[in-house]
Amino acid sequence: MRAVEVPEAEADFDVVEKPVPEPDSDEVRVAVEACGVCHSDEMTKEGLYPRIEYPRVPGHEVVGRVDAVGDDVTEWEEGERVGVGWHGGHCFTCEACRRGDFINCEHAKVTGLDFDGGYAEYTVAPHEALAAVPDELDAADAAPLLCAGITTFNALRNSDARPGDLVAVQGVGGLGHLGIQYAHEAGFEVVALSRGTDKKERALELGADHYVDTEATAAAEELRALGGASVVLATAPSAPAIESVVGGLGADGEVIAVGIPGEPVGVHAGALVGVRGSVSGWASGTAKDSQDTLEFSALRDVTPEIETFDLGDAQDAYEKMLASEVRFRAVLEP
Ligand SMILES: [Zn+2]
Ligand SMILES: [Zn+2]
Repeated sequence: MRAVEVPEAEADFDVVEKPVPEPDSDEVRVAVEACGVCHSDEMTKEGLYPRIEYPRVPGHEVVGRVDAVGDDVTEWEEGERVGVGWHGGHCFTCEACRRGDFINCEHAKVTGLDFDGGYAEYTVAPHEALAAVPDELDAADAAPLLCAGITTFNALRNSDARPGDLVAVQGVGGLGHLGIQYAHEAGFEVVALSRGTDKKERALELGADHYVDTEATAAAEELRALGGASVVLATAPSAPAIESVVGGLGADGEVIAVGIPGEPVGVHAGALVGVRGSVSGWASGTAKDSQDTLEFSALRDVTPEIETFDLGDAQDAYEKMLASEVRFRAVLEP
């Protein structure tokens, strides 16, 4: 099969021919139809993950069809449409797993880091890492929902915000353009926060009720004028951006960081104490959360805006993604 490997940390991608992998007894082989390119693929490429072994095939936004199942796998059959996201399996026996908190499994695997991911014609994943993909969703459209989609959808649905509450989405990019759609479809009053006015029209089309140009006005003031935010979903990986919205929280409001800035976030506790506010983080979810995301997306017609690339052009797709030249998610097709 054709696959794209990272040969060693900080090296460019290699397009290689390698044997089609065989699933172990508890694994499933997936014939890949599409794989999204995510900013977190940087962890594979740059060696930012302690346990990583090279060469490694990146890719944790995988959509395809079940191609072969291990002998002990009972819930998947050949031909079924499936997706594999960031959470690539768990041990079922550690303290967290015994509580059903699979995301916090001490031995949790990450797709494309602990095992080869979806930048390939085939991939093999643990059976518990698979989500069913609804027929209504095109493979290339479904792929980014396995990371950018689930992260924003799951963060919002696990927040305390209720229909009618003010929810701000900071950043109108790969995550933000999905977050706006989910927030709108979930019944929130939605504020899109972004620098400049380039993305204003698109944000309003996607379902934002308000648009705040954070270069022209102070985001916190605007949010307070709208009654204060129950949630600010911070998708831009920027500490100053996160700091700038804390003052816009309403009572019990929460800034949920889903983009990770390279530098620490400095927050004055006074801005939190006064409103019982908080700053928190959220990471993706389990395969069942992925499936919920995909089903909700099909039900409410939430789709990502994508640019597709041939698998062999992974390097180009990755560089364009890093340079924010892709609107809004890059997807590889084998
Ligand atoms: Zn990702
Ligand atoms: Zn575990």
